Formats: sequence, C-alpha cells, structure tokens
Amino acid sequence: MALTRLEIEGIGMTSQRTRDRMIQRLREQGIKHDALLEVMRKVPRHLFMDQALATRSYEDTALPIGHGQTISQPYMVARMTELLLASEQPLEKILEVGTGSGYQAAILGKLIPKIYTVERIQTLYKQARQLLDELGYRNIRTSLSDGSWGINYEAPFDGILVTAAPEEIPQALLEQLAIGARLIIPTGKQGEGQVLKVVTRTTETDYQEQVIETVQFVPLVRA
Ligand code: SAH
Repeated sequence: MALTRLEIEGIGMTSQRTRDRMIQRLREQGIKHDALLEVMRKVPRHLFMDQALATRSYEDTALPIGHGQTISQPYMVARMTELLLASEQPLEKILEVGTGSGYQAAILGKLIPKIYTVERIQTLYKQARQLLDELGYRNIRTSLSDGSWGINYEAPFDGILVTAAPEEIPQALLEQLAIGARLIIPTGKQGEGQVLKVVTRTTETDYQEQVIETVQFVPLVRA
C-alpha cells in the first residue's frame, strides 16, 4: 500500500512546522552539519513509529518501537551521523548495526550512496524494509542477522555505525573497517554508564579510540 502525500507530509504535531522546531533544537544542541540538518528536516520521523506515538515523534526523546527496543532520540541520531560524516575520506558504503525502525538508515541513505543495515528481530526487520520501500529508498540493503559479525563479504566499509551497545567492541566490526574509516559505537552495560566511542582504523593493525559522551542504548544482543 503506497503512502499518501498527506501521510508523508504530516499535520499538526507531525507537520513541517513541528519538524522545523526539532531542527532549531538540534542546532542549539550543537549540531552544525547543514546537509544533515536539512535531511532530518525532511525525513518523516513520525512514520517510523507506532501511529499512537506519532504526535511525539519530533520531541527530543527516544520512543518505544516494540520488542523492548527504541528509536533513538533525534539528538543522538544527529550526533552519531555527524561523527560519521566528519570522516576525512569519502563515504561510499556504510554499515549500520541495529536497523530498529529504519530511521537512522533513512537519514544515512539520503547522505551516503550505499547503506547496509542489519537487524536481529524479524518483525522489526520486516517493518523497516517495507517502510523504506514505500518511501522509495533504493540504496539501503537490509538484512536479518546478528550484526556483531558485520557483513564479511561486503567489507571493507567506509564507516560503521552501531545503535545498540555491546560491553566490548566486536572484533569483526574492527576488522571490517577500511583504513582511515570510523566506527561509531556505544559501549558498556545498560544502566551502568555507557559511553559513545569513535574508533578510527589508522593502519592495517592500529586503531585510535576517542570517547565522546555518556549515552543510553539498548544492549547489542549476540546470537
Ligand atoms: N537505529 C535504530 C535504533 C534501534 S534500537 C532506529 O533508528 O530506530 C537498536 C536495535 O538494535 C534494536 O532494533 C535491536 O533489536 C537491534 N539489535 C540488538 N542487537 C543486535 C545484533 N546483535 N544484531 C543486529 N541488531 C541488533
């Protein structure tokens, strides 16, 4: 079933005016990347969650998407994307681990030519795939698997963004980074002080780690 223009444009609390206020808030929170802000202004975040929550979709909060999972708050989506875009080399091909609603992938898909995204919960994977199709994305590949293994046959990636927190960074993800590429990943136990890290692969064997800020993510669950 195709989405109507009205559904995509939204009304009231999902209208363009409400979205513009979200962008204003993101600027106040320190997000500076203009092309990213423009994409976040346009992508209909309210379609990536249950209709009952749509009126809250442009608030700066994480919201439930079922199965104990959440769509990340707009600030965190913006911050992680900005860290990825700050890479010094061209970004052609990116891996996201934790598709969830598909919102983060949809943002990346407007900025980067090719996106691979992996989800472990079948219902979420199917819903995200359907919505991304309805919105006309042709450059986002979705798959159902344990993303802590990455996607070996598609590696190396120009960047990897993980939206669920492992206690330790999975080795496979480090190995699937191109030289110079960045891994954006929250780590640590849920409720016990997680931090967002940027890990850059500086040479074949060397990695440089930077701690960005404290965060709250659902756990990365291994198969
Ligand atoms: N990026 C998502 C955020 C979803 S929350 C969005 O924009 O909505 C994190 C997601 O990671 C959840 O859907 C969860 O099921 C998924 N996840 C957790 N462990 C995983 C794993 N090992 N492999 C793939 N997905 C995983």
